[in-house]
Amino acid sequence: MSIYETFKKSFWGPTIAWKRLFTKPVTIKVPKVYREAAERYRGFHVNDWELCTGCSTCSKICPTDAIKMVPVDIEVEPGKKAQRPAIDYGRCTFCGMCVDICTTGSLKMTREYIHISDDPNTFFFLPDEAGIHHQEIPLGYQRDEASELLDLERVEMEELPASERVNSFIEYVKGYSKEQAIAEAARCVDCELCVDVCPANMDIPRYIESAFRDNTKEGVEWIYKTNPLPGVCGRVCTHKCETVCSIGHRGEPVAIRWLKRYIMDQESVKDIIKNAKENVVKKGTGKIAIIGAGPSGLSAAYYLSLMGYKVTIFEAKELPGGVMRYGIPRYRLPDEALDKDIGVIKALGIEIKCNSTVGKDITLDELKEKYDAVFLGTGFTLGRSTKVPGTDHKDVLMALPLLEKIRDYLRDPGKSEKPHVPDSLIVIGGGNVAMDVARSIARLQRMEGKKVNVKVT
Ligand code: SF4
Ligand code: SF4
Repeated sequence: MSIYETFKKSFWGPTIAWKRLFTKPVTIKVPKVYREAAERYRGFHVNDWELCTGCSTCSKICPTDAIKMVPVDIEVEPGKKAQRPAIDYGRCTFCGMCVDICTTGSLKMTREYIHISDDPNTFFFLPDEAGIHHQEIPLGYQRDEASELLDLERVEMEELPASERVNSFIEYVKGYSKEQAIAEAARCVDCELCVDVCPANMDIPRYIESAFRDNTKEGVEWIYKTNPLPGVCGRVCTHKCETVCSIGHRGEPVAIRWLKRYIMDQESVKDIIKNAKENVVKKGTGKIAIIGAGPSGLSAAYYLSLMGYKVTIFEAKELPGGVMRYGIPRYRLPDEALDKDIGVIKALGIEIKCNSTVGKDITLDELKEKYDAVFLGTGFTLGRSTKVPGTDHKDVLMALPLLEKIRDYLRDPGKSEKPHVPDSLIVIGGGNVAMDVARSIARLQRMEGKKVNVKVT
């Protein structure tokens, strides 16, 4: 370009821009030309607080870290957290992954897309069921089958075929294989809702993660922090945890109990004992007597022993375990699993004196004198009558003594009295114990070649 042309452009060029100073602005004022968004538009969120559990899964998946869980002042039932997701729309890319993964389906998107402010701090919202501006806005994008991110179906547990279990007391749940356990563990979203309702306050997501990473040794370490009877719990715990599991809101809850059992079944008693011994802190110096070798007595003994106390358990029965050995039928809890747990407890140096009834073989006063403290863990082994007239009839049986008789007989038929197997039985109640009785008698009827005749009311 010549010097003349360069000069001409530099001199007249700005006048083209100056001309615009006197023309009408062409900026479109947004509210005046509001356009209806498409049906599946990904606009601002709504969140049904009644449905939302505060699980924080939406927050964890957000690729731009736009969602923070914030504490809210609401009453929540067990299995929910008093926190709700708040969204920073300065970061949100409206990808919709939070909606796709929301465990309850409480989080959705609307067709609302306008929020005008020159203050960047006003782009952080805590959406509730009325959205962020509390206006009536139709829903936009919602999850469908194709965008589902959760694995809603549980890995099926293999069981003994019904034809084989009807006339045997063999444990019928077979347990997960490694591949099955990893697939099942992968369903967990690490929300920790289950931890709050677990009576033992177990750190469930941590041991599930260990199973997922195929590190069952680490899983055992997590489990033993709060539960010294995991082989038992992995089989017969009532798994309250699973009733609040996030995945259970729209699908089948994670098989927490079976995963615990899987972890325990993989590790040898020797390795579990090694782990237990590494946790001994040796602070206490006293001697403690525990009355009863049931779940509470054994648990207390384990943790007191870790704290350095010398523990002796006095058990009236021939073998330790309480209702775990003398109540729950062996098709649900075999002696071998219980003995594995008890073996670990005993390896800490705990003495279990069986056939020692306090009040008969030794008095409470003697225990108080010989020991620094006494723990009573006698349990409830006698059963409770309905007190309906006629319950004192000889053919009306209490559940626990009957179950004990059946277990004793099956353990050692030569030594124990054979339980009477009635031709027909009516069971009052439908809880765990009632079903144990019904299923045990039905099995015995089959084993004796009788027709199964058990009714549960
Ligand atoms: S994923 Fe759903 S249920 Fe969980 S905190 Fe987020 S909005 Fe609530
Ligand atoms: S097991 Fe269920 S409730 Fe527990 S952390 Fe995993 S998803 Fe959450």
